[in-house]
Order: sequence, then C-alpha cells, then structure tokens
Amino acid sequence: MSADPVLSLIRPEILAITPYSSARKESSGGRVWLDANENPQTPSAGRPLLNRYPDPQPADLVARLAGYYTVPATSVLVTRGSDEGIDLLLRAFCRAGQDGILITPPTYGMYSVSAAIQNARVVTVPLLPEKNFALNPAAVLAACTPDVKLVFLCSPNNPTGALLARTDVLALVKTLLGRAVVVVDEAYLEFAGTPSLTQELTANPNLVVLRTLSKAFGLAGVRCGVTIASPALIGVLQKIIAPYPVPTPVLQAALTAISPEGLAAARTSVAGLVAERKRVSVALAKMPAVRRVWPSDSNFILFEVTDSARVMSATRAVGVVLRDRSRDHGLANSVRMTMGTPEENNAALEIIARV
Ligand code: PMP
Repeated sequence: MSADPVLSLIRPEILAITPYSSARKESSGGRVWLDANENPQTPSAGRPLLNRYPDPQPADLVARLAGYYTVPATSVLVTRGSDEGIDLLLRAFCRAGQDGILITPPTYGMYSVSAAIQNARVVTVPLLPEKNFALNPAAVLAACTPDVKLVFLCSPNNPTGALLARTDVLALVKTLLGRAVVVVDEAYLEFAGTPSLTQELTANPNLVVLRTLSKAFGLAGVRCGVTIASPALIGVLQKIIAPYPVPTPVLQAALTAISPEGLAAARTSVAGLVAERKRVSVALAKMPAVRRVWPSDSNFILFEVTDSARVMSATRAVGVVLRDRSRDHGLANSVRMTMGTPEENNAALEIIARV
C-alpha cells in the first residue's frame, strides 16, 4: 500500500491496473496512419473529416484550460461533462459494498447516483437552512468514518444557490488529509465572482475541484468537464477514463470557448445572467405566492412558495418549465428557476405573479 495520503485511499486494484494504451498514445510523427483500424475517409463527407480517433487529452485544450483555471497542465483532466469526473472519482476510491461517500443535502443528485452505481454507501450531513445552507463542519467531521473516502461539497451549491464558506471548506480539507478526499464542485463558480479553490491545490493534495463548460460557457450540449487535482491523482484517473473522452467536435467547440474572444463573450454572458438574477430575485420576493427567495451566487434562484404544485402547473400550462425541488431534503414547496433571457424570465414572472 502507498504511504501517499491520497494514493493510499485509492482502490488497490485500480493502482495495479495497466491502462489501455490507445494507438494515439503510442505513436507520434506519422504520415500514413495504418495503426488504429480507422477508415481513411469519412464516407458521408467523401474526405477525411472525423475519421481519426482524437488525442486522448488534447494538449492544446489542456493547456488553455490550465491557463484559465491557473493550474499546471498536469493537474487537468478533460472529461465528458463534470458528471464523468464524479463517476471516475467514485470508481477510483470506493470499493463496492465497502466504502462510501459523504454528501451535504440538499445538493446535486449525481453524487448519490454515481455512488449507487458503484455500490458505495452514502452518508448525509445536511446543510444548515437557518444559516443560508452553510456547511456544518463539525457534523461532517464526526460523520467521516474510515470507510468514507470522498466528501462531495458543491459551491455554489445546486439547488440552493449559495457559496459554501471557503474557510469551512479549507478547514475540512486540511483536517481530512490522509482520511478522505474533498471534492469541491465549482460548476457555477463563474456566477459567484469569487476565487476558485484551485489556488489551494498545491498545498492540499486531498483537494479535487470540478469545473465545467456547461454553465458560464453555455456548452451543456458539448459535454465537456474538467477535473482538477494533484498530478498523481490525475494520473490515476487517466488510467480508468474511457479511451477517447474528448471527441473532435467537442475539442473544436471547447477551444473556441477558451480562446480570448470566447472568454470575453462568456464574461459578458455571465454579467448579463447575474444582472437578471438580481432583477428576478427582487421581482419574485414581491409576489403573493412567494414566501422566501434564497440568495444566489449561481445562475439560478431557489424560492419557497405557498404551493409548489400550483406554481409548477401554472407555469407548465404556458410552456414555461421550472424545476420543483420540493422532494429534496428540507425543501418543501421549493422551486428552482434557471436564469434565461430577460424575455424568458419575464414569461415565468408573469405567471408566478398570478398564482
Ligand atoms: N455539478 C453540478 C453542481 C451541476 O449542477 C451539474 C449539472 N447540472 C453538474 C455538475 C454536471 O455538469 P456537466 O454538464 O459538466 O456534466
């Protein structure tokens, strides 16, 4: 067993795996490619187009992402959405039927779905609604039994919307070194305007940060996520990820998004959505059916209503689709509204005002 405080938590059989070595990993500098059982053409296009397997981790994209997140390229793994990052972590750390994860409900649903797929136990330590859904660090620590290998924290949290306190998160990371890895899901961080925890990675090898191009960059359809961690842990995840997780069309879209022009456009989009968040929050708070609007650092707003079923059916009747979060832990009669265009938001507001 490894004495490394993070590698020692990984399933031993994963550490022992010899990964699949794809043709593109083994060859470079070729002219005639007859090694990978590809077609020399894309027949539907009549010429080479998408006929080649892509680079497993395209260096140009990894370099741009590393620049954007201000981390070394060796700390970056590009995945099929950040959902794949969650799944890879579960598979790397949790022995089926033996290990578990800790989540802080109400929170993003895929942590427990990926845990169920891996047959990992899920320990829950609820956020504190009376403190605007803050972490309860003492309770998290107390619940971290030796079988808990991963602690998933979402900041800003989905579906509640607010950031977790950086000091709380960092204190947990430091205390859990050698016991568990803390995964901070920053899918919505661009909307919060606060620094990422990626700055803390070098000092904290048991910290993993998840980012995505699905939100601020408006590329949910592309399925491009980023797992950011120590080079040693990235090396382990690279052993278990599917052979070519960055399809060529995804690479092209992601490179455009992380270009100087793409970054500027994303900043403008985020500013517009943040302005809408403020306007819509104020408007919702004045409505008779709305009991409470939670503060948000994300691109959505969680609000409590007198009767969520009525709000959902009234909006649905005019084709406006919100998300009923009433079944989430402690969120009775709560609805989540994503910020759309001003016109789309007005369509929702008009209906909710009349409920
Ligand atoms: N994390 C959180 C908190 C999310 O809300 C979502 C998607 N709704 C994801 C991760 C997954 O994002 P991706 O599209 O990158 O898989």
